[in-house]
Amino acid sequence: MTIRAVIWNENVHEQENEIVAELYPAGIHGVIADALNATDGVSATTATLQEPEHGLSAARLAETDVLLWWGHAAHSDVSDAVAARVAEAVWSGMGFIALHSAHFSKPFKALMGTACNLTWREAGERERIWLTSRNHPIAAGLPDHFTLENEEMYGEPFGVPEPLETVFISWFQGGEVFRSGLTYKRGAGNLFYFRPGHETYPTYHDPNIQCVLRNAVLWAHNPARRIADVTDAPNVPIDAAPEPIEARGRRLHRDGEAGFR
Ligand code: ZN
Repeated sequence: MTIRAVIWNENVHEQENEIVAELYPAGIHGVIADALNATDGVSATTATLQEPEHGLSAARLAETDVLLWWGHAAHSDVSDAVAARVAEAVWSGMGFIALHSAHFSKPFKALMGTACNLTWREAGERERIWLTSRNHPIAAGLPDHFTLENEEMYGEPFGVPEPLETVFISWFQGGEVFRSGLTYKRGAGNLFYFRPGHETYPTYHDPNIQCVLRNAVLWAHNPARRIADVTDAPNVPIDAAPEPIEARGRRLHRDGEAGFR
């Protein structure tokens, strides 16, 4: 079975900033797609903000096993309808990997339900990334710690719910620390947040980072059939109750009414 990954990128800095364009001439999404396509059993394609429906039509999401998301300057340009569609796809079983500044993306915030805020500083600091869960599949093949020579600092407190598992913690040259690799389950979907990836540094060219992304796609893939109509909230008729019952008491709703939502 081939895992179908889609790397979504707002693709704004690559067009507007010459440092980013020089580091990522085919876009951040292009470098990540190349890394994932070098993985046995993974087929990666890309989608960007500028495409119709941001490249994420309902049909495309139905054929996406794992969606990776990179966004920063244009979070607010993502349509609410597409963001809701992504969250629903996750609830129904699609894997979702939020990269770096995607902590403030609409789909990630919807899936977390919290502020997702953090402290930050752009000073090219050294980042040392420590494994905190050695046997976790997302950490497979990695040393106990590895270093990125230049990264943006993200610091605690990180305003997200307590994760299922913390896979990485980062230390920064200036002294802050951050939970850099967090796993969640949302509905039937596996979700991973991975911190590194500031656009003015060559982070996504780093072999250890590419290793994490490959592992994360394999981990996030849920091979079960996607749950259909995941937001349905049916009104079950009295005569369809598993045990025989008679209606009692006074009622607000009429038989067969859809109810409020
Ligand atoms: Zn950044």
